[in-house]
Amino acid sequence: MLIKNAFVIFKDKIEKTDVLVKNGRIADIGGNLTDDEVLDLEGKYLAPGFIDIHNHGGYGYDYMDNTVEAFENILRFHSDNGITSAVASTVTAPRETVEKTLAVAREVIAKKGAHAKLLGVHLEGPYLSFQNKGAHAPAYLKIPAQDDYQYILDNADIIRQITLSPELDGSVELTRKLVEKGVVVSLGHDNAILPEILPVVNAGASNLTHIFCAMSMVVMKNNKRYVGLREYGLIDDALSAEVIADNHHITPELLKMIYKCKGGDGMCLISDCLRAGGMKADGTLYSLGKKDDPTSQQFKVADGVAVLADGKTYAGSIQPISQMLRNVVFDGGVPLIEAIKMVTSTPARIIKADKYIGSIEVGKCADFCVLDKDLRVEKTIIEGKIIKQ
Ligand SMILES: [Zn+2]
Repeated sequence: MLIKNAFVIFKDKIEKTDVLVKNGRIADIGGNLTDDEVLDLEGKYLAPGFIDIHNHGGYGYDYMDNTVEAFENILRFHSDNGITSAVASTVTAPRETVEKTLAVAREVIAKKGAHAKLLGVHLEGPYLSFQNKGAHAPAYLKIPAQDDYQYILDNADIIRQITLSPELDGSVELTRKLVEKGVVVSLGHDNAILPEILPVVNAGASNLTHIFCAMSMVVMKNNKRYVGLREYGLIDDALSAEVIADNHHITPELLKMIYKCKGGDGMCLISDCLRAGGMKADGTLYSLGKKDDPTSQQFKVADGVAVLADGKTYAGSIQPISQMLRNVVFDGGVPLIEAIKMVTSTPARIIKADKYIGSIEVGKCADFCVLDKDLRVEKTIIEGKIIKQ
């Protein structure tokens, strides 16, 4: 297939040119290419397919419903919103539930479905701080030094990322073991101060889970002022940052500050989307994590964000990253080319998948998102196949 007349969004420029797709890969880029099958984009943007490395659900499903059907519906929600690859996030839950999620994810990855590609799993917990647990069920929080985490190491081939809190006993050792196995260690849901953060960063932690949300900040202790993960994360270039750019969790002013410190290469947008994504906001109560589990946290949708039943604590977002891209450009004033990095090349690099996805280059997967002038998703193309139009 030859994709013609597109404003192609490359990493360093936007240029009107054509892209040739063969066997699911980008075969050539340029002006004098031909093919029997032509897709004329009539001056629309051709961006790399979006990548969401932190999300929990959509279309009424949560990955932790633990069925192939749930995964497929969530991945359809994603591809309907311009996402071509996603990582499935868990919440803290009984170990058997998490192990089941890993097993279903393994099945879905092997099956290769008709929607967004599943790249693996992000374990959000169980090694999170009680003080900054956010919407995670407190009953299942654990401390690495007191827990048998062999099941995590055994599934390292499909676990792309784990969120842990640096100050917990055993976090440094666990970080070292996970990094050795290629798992990205992302810091967050923490209550740490700098002396507790540095050893985990030195052990190889490389990402920050939704910066500013459920994250430590500057405190006075023993007559000394210590920075927390929010401030340290902004200044250390070794740490990339996830951002829930839904204009609620992160307002445009905060977004501007994070962008000033991290740039498009140092921050990625995540939806953190819950099962209510793509559903009506009619006051319905939804469960976080496994459906019908009496111990799971309940939330509802109000004013474009998910809140716990108490009406105060944010439970996650309901906006896909395609909407967040528009928030970042139109409300945050970020140049389009930098904002596109935050949903393509940067998340690909964070989870170490940038060899084959995340940018429009010859040899990479033919994964694209077609955008109109208002940056609304018109088409999603996965490995050369038009999934949504
Ligand atoms: Zn999350």
